[in-house]
Amino acid sequence: MNKMQLKILSRSENENFARNVVAAFALPLNPTLSELSDIKTAVSEAVTNCIVHAYPEREDWITIDCETEKATLHITVSDNGKGIEDVAQALTPFFTSLPDEERSGMGFTIMQTFMSGFSVKSAPGVGTTVKMSKTIGARADADAR
Ligand code: ATP
Ligand code: MG
Repeated sequence: MNKMQLKILSRSENENFARNVVAAFALPLNPTLSELSDIKTAVSEAVTNCIVHAYPEREDWITIDCETEKATLHITVSDNGKGIEDVAQALTPFFTSLPDEERSGMGFTIMQTFMSGFSVKSAPGVGTTVKMSKTIGARADADAR
């Protein structure tokens, strides 16, 4: 078991930083390139949501907690921002509250598809916590490692 915590400001330049840090933390689990790419994409979507939706008018903290447990990487991305009123609606593919900004409403769907586990907790005015997990070697493509 191993743990790390990363705290970044909600600046767009930190999105690339965060996904690479999480990928580096996951390396000891010996992920395939495809698994690593799934993890990076999911982190990138979660962090982008904090930057764009949680803190639309200010820069504030995004906290990323990671834990490895056997072959599974657990990732929690949390903010203290705007929050989500209707989580079920937010999880619907193609739903976006910012259609004018060329958002496609696919971030949560991508996280759900690319990761082994996914859940969202949110409270308006309090913030949002996204939990994801990825079990390395869970699929047949682990044979290609
Ligand atoms: P895309 O990710 O395709 O650019 P999107 O960000 O709108 O578009 P999702 O990532 O699926 O789509 O998020 C759906 C909706 O959930 C968002 O439009 C927003 O209203 C809400 N949301 C997501 N993350 C947060 C967050 N951290 N804080 C507040 N609202 C959020
Ligand atoms: Mg998004």
